[in-house]
Amino acid sequence: MLDRFTERTMDLEYTQEQEEFRQELRSWYEENLPDGWLEGERDIPEDGEEREEFLRDWQSKLHEGGWAGVHWPKEYGGRGATLVEQLIYNEETARIDPPPSISVIGTDFVGPTLIAAGTEEQKERFVPNILDGEEVWCQGYSEPEAGSDLASLQCEAIDEGDTYRINGQKIWTSYAHYADWCFLLVRTDKSGPKHHGITAVLVDMNQDGVSHEPIDQIVDDSTFNHVYFDDAVAKKEHVVGDVDDGWRVAMKLSAFERSALTQAFALEKSFDELVEYCKNTERGGKPLSEHTTVRQKLAELDSRIQAGKLTYYRNVSKQMKTGEPGPEGSMDKVFTGEIKQDLERFKTKLLGPEAAVWDEDAPGGRWQTSYLQSFGTQIAGGTPDIQRNIIAERVLGLPKDAKE
Ligand SMILES: Cc1cc2nc3c(=O)[nH]c(=O)nc-3n(C[C@H](O)[C@H](O)[C@H](O)COP(=O)(O)OP(=O)(O)OC[C@H]3O[C@@H](n4cnc5c(N)ncnc54)[C@H](O)[C@@H]3O)c2cc1C
Repeated sequence: MLDRFTERTMDLEYTQEQEEFRQELRSWYEENLPDGWLEGERDIPEDGEEREEFLRDWQSKLHEGGWAGVHWPKEYGGRGATLVEQLIYNEETARIDPPPSISVIGTDFVGPTLIAAGTEEQKERFVPNILDGEEVWCQGYSEPEAGSDLASLQCEAIDEGDTYRINGQKIWTSYAHYADWCFLLVRTDKSGPKHHGITAVLVDMNQDGVSHEPIDQIVDDSTFNHVYFDDAVAKKEHVVGDVDDGWRVAMKLSAFERSALTQAFALEKSFDELVEYCKNTERGGKPLSEHTTVRQKLAELDSRIQAGKLTYYRNVSKQMKTGEPGPEGSMDKVFTGEIKQDLERFKTKLLGPEAAVWDEDAPGGRWQTSYLQSFGTQIAGGTPDIQRNIIAERVLGLPKDAKE
């Protein structure tokens, strides 16, 4: 099975140069993280303008340090890191758990898509402002009646010469409340099959025809939104790819998205915290780590986490040969997503009655939050069912979903 994707053997040792890259990143984080961050003091503003300012400043700091867009080509302001360096970057960043990136949609999905499929004018206009947080992006794909079945989208763009007039609604749009620009999918032709007649266009969020409303989440946060387009205007020169052929561009962006959504490394950090807790917490007169059922679950989780990491390495190995992320990103997303949910559920269970206490101090509060967040993480970027369909069709070569 393995050699269907890559070669049978893999060199898992890092070179000295790669270890130096890791050390450089580690030192940069140590010098530049907000005061007290590594000691667990993580007071970032909860919401509003203060939070936005904090997150934009952090993005600009990352950029100044050369750590925004590590995987971007140097000619576009990135670090030009190799895929292995990018892997090391992901590993270290998951371990350190820095403040969230306000520009994640720009740096990880929109920027790489524009570099691959945008016009020279679009690259010149938009790409430089992504890495330093000057312009924040959101991704307008999902609609109330078009989530998994994205090709059913109805948000309409009417041709008005040099511009499009856009009317419709998007939902679950992460970061729309901060965004300056939206990578929007619109319907430009209703006459043909549903995958035809979709166009990808870049839309200015700071105009009268665009409004948004927060959607409250289970963790008492609201990072995503309803977005309404009422006679909003987009320039034709901001269409990415060909008119009516946006599905192809949309899938390119989705492949970048899935490859960026790995949880392989965050799992290890969360697991290590669990092991420490089990060693230091007594139940029934002995540490949790001495209870047989707990030990069995820890062993099971650890082997799945290691398998998740190896699956990720295998995907990177394949991408090194093909040059672009493939459908294997779906395997990683579904596999590590399920482990994450199981791990966080088990942690919450071990807290026992403490799980009902919502305290900011570790582990109470943070563990429950991670557990509740794990549901949304599974859905974002395509649900596990949809990832399984992709794996069935594009990795295993099985017949297409009958509904398509
Ligand atoms: C945290 C988070 C962030 C998000 N951010 C964004 C964003 O920034 N931009 C954006 O556009 N969207 C975003 N989304 C939306 C996300 O892409 C959709 O929620 C997702 O694609 C599922 O669509 P849906 O919610 O409409 O569910 P539905 O498509 O209605 O699915 C409902 C259920 O039916 C199952 N199902 C549907 N079709 C099939 C099928 N063919 N085979 C098997 N099972 C099926 C699904 O697996 C699911 O269990 C975000 C979602 C979350 C949770």
